[in-house]
Amino acid sequence: MSIAIYPGSFDPVTFGHMDIIKRSARVFDKIYVAVLINSAKTPTFTIEERLELLRECCKDFRNVEVESFTGLTVDFAKSKGATVMVRGLRAVSDFESEIQIAHTNHALMPRIETVFFATSIKWSYLSSTIVKEAARYNSDVSRFVPHCVEKKLHEKFGFPVERKLRDDD
Ligand code: ADP
Repeated sequence: MSIAIYPGSFDPVTFGHMDIIKRSARVFDKIYVAVLINSAKTPTFTIEERLELLRECCKDFRNVEVESFTGLTVDFAKSKGATVMVRGLRAVSDFESEIQIAHTNHALMPRIETVFFATSIKWSYLSSTIVKEAARYNSDVSRFVPHCVEKKLHEKFGFPVERKLRDDD
């Protein structure tokens, strides 16, 4: 059985992340979406909020589970019996830091392979940071994030939800 983890901050989850989750769920038998609890960063969404949003977004995938972790990603992967770490590569600019992380993880635990998914062109410009900037200034973010995330962004930034929700909701 092939088990993979997909680690990240997911602050919050976007359609770019969901695209990687959907595609990796077709390739691996089981995926753990792993939300890093990083005390060095100040996230916009609490760990509980990020987990709740991801669980809502992943509820239709029978082979995807969402969990949080602290410490080294390779240790979390090992604890789950995973042999693969999934990451998404958006642009050349991602490459430098991603290759450094992949090499470090390989040095720490050679049995765990990092597998990169080339992101879909449709979402290649998207990041959680960009989405939060757009939401902060009252833009329509419904094209970038699932509906539950859109609602949460509006709650967080204090905009009138009714005004921003799509007509078909
Ligand atoms: P981190 O802080 O670990 O980079 P992120 O939540 O920003 O966490 O990203 C987690 C993973 O998802 C990374 O591999 C990143 O490259 C990938 N990712 C982020 N945004 C997108 C996107 N728009 N399309 C595809 N993959 C993405």
